[in-house]
Amino acid sequence: MTGVGAMKISLSDISDDGLHVQTRMSPGWLDNIPGLKTGEEYTRLASDIDVDLVVTKSLREVTVLGELVFSIETPCSRCLETVRLDIKPEIRLMLSPADKVKDADDVDHETYRGDVVDLDDYLRGLIAVSLPVKVVCAENCRGLCPKCGTNLNNEACGCEKGWQDPRFAVLKKLRI
Ligand SMILES: [Zn+2]
Ligand SMILES: [Zn+2]
Repeated sequence: MTGVGAMKISLSDISDDGLHVQTRMSPGWLDNIPGLKTGEEYTRLASDIDVDLVVTKSLREVTVLGELVFSIETPCSRCLETVRLDIKPEIRLMLSPADKVKDADDVDHETYRGDVVDLDDYLRGLIAVSLPVKVVCAENCRGLCPKCGTNLNNEACGCEKGWQDPRFAVLKKLRI
């Protein structure tokens, strides 16, 4: 299997021992995935996508187990500095012929038609759902000053604190 094409697997290529697929997809494979965009303010793919999976079949049930490995760059939600993260979503998928519906609790479930299993949409969807919603560069990131925009991790600014504990205001009133 080459790294440029889609992730299509012929049932006839799956031997009794299963089919081990190791390939690397370029970021272009993910064009059109919502949430992955170009531009610094967005999450973007920062590596190729390594695909490592084993495909087995039993009668006409196809099982796919493995993992994807890739890196993203995304802005810290507090200070906007770029954070690089490695993402490794696990692949646990069962496919049945389209005319047969089966429930599976602990694995994802898809159908296929004919003699070819097309993993493209599933794997792209797996990548989309594995993207973190909110990322911080560090648990104690101080973020940006809401008034002047200074990155408070790097330097202090002279701005007054914008936020005041409301209990303070009540105490002040009581003292008057
Ligand atoms: Zn930060
Ligand atoms: Zn400031």
